[in-house]
Amino acid sequence: MKGFKSFADETHILFTDDIIGIVGPNGSGKSNIVDAVRWVLGEQSSRELRLESMGDVIFNGSRAKKAGKVARVSLTFENTKNLLPTEYTEITLTRKLYRSGESEYQINDVKCRLKDIKALFMDSGIGSNSYAIIALGMVDDILADKENARRMMFEEAAGISKYKERKKETLNKLRHTEEDLDRIEDLVFEIE
Ligand code: ATP
Repeated sequence: MKGFKSFADETHILFTDDIIGIVGPNGSGKSNIVDAVRWVLGEQSSRELRLESMGDVIFNGSRAKKAGKVARVSLTFENTKNLLPTEYTEITLTRKLYRSGESEYQINDVKCRLKDIKALFMDSGIGSNSYAIIALGMVDDILADKENARRMMFEEAAGISKYKERKKETLNKLRHTEEDLDRIEDLVFEIE
């Protein structure tokens, strides 16, 4: 990452072991690392990243350093076991946000839409809102079963979220087509 929150300089972090602990003084940026993972996976809520607005992810300057112009985070996954539905054995996601408000997503250095990233990771358990990242508030939501949180977590783990999403999209298209048909019927009626 570079220019993301407190990480003004380019910083590489290797997650090589099954269990990794991040230690450091208060305010040194431990949680910002988790925020970076969430952000590159497509997090849209600035509140979830503990910010007032999304523009605040860009390094806002310190006594020693000028504020940055762009925030960039890349996250590389090994895909040798083909857990992600793509032929690539390594997948790098990148998200950038410029001060102008312009933003960009990439998969392996090719520009893409947020939708493409969501589709790639759907049902993998990895995602900005999946159970891969468990924040404290989420534990409460799961225990209290707020907004069906427990069911949603099991659906993602069972791999059926993508079918539910496709069903929703198809029903939407069907509704639009029905509305178009109604309009055509009206026109035919008028012409006759
Ligand atoms: P704690 O142990 O208290 O939870 P932490 O190590 O998890 O702390 P973080 O919450 O990750 O710390 O980092 C907070 C720091 O990040 C604050 O000092 C805050 O000023 C800094 N920070 C957040 N956004 C930006 C930004 N856009 N530019 C510069 N610094 C930022």
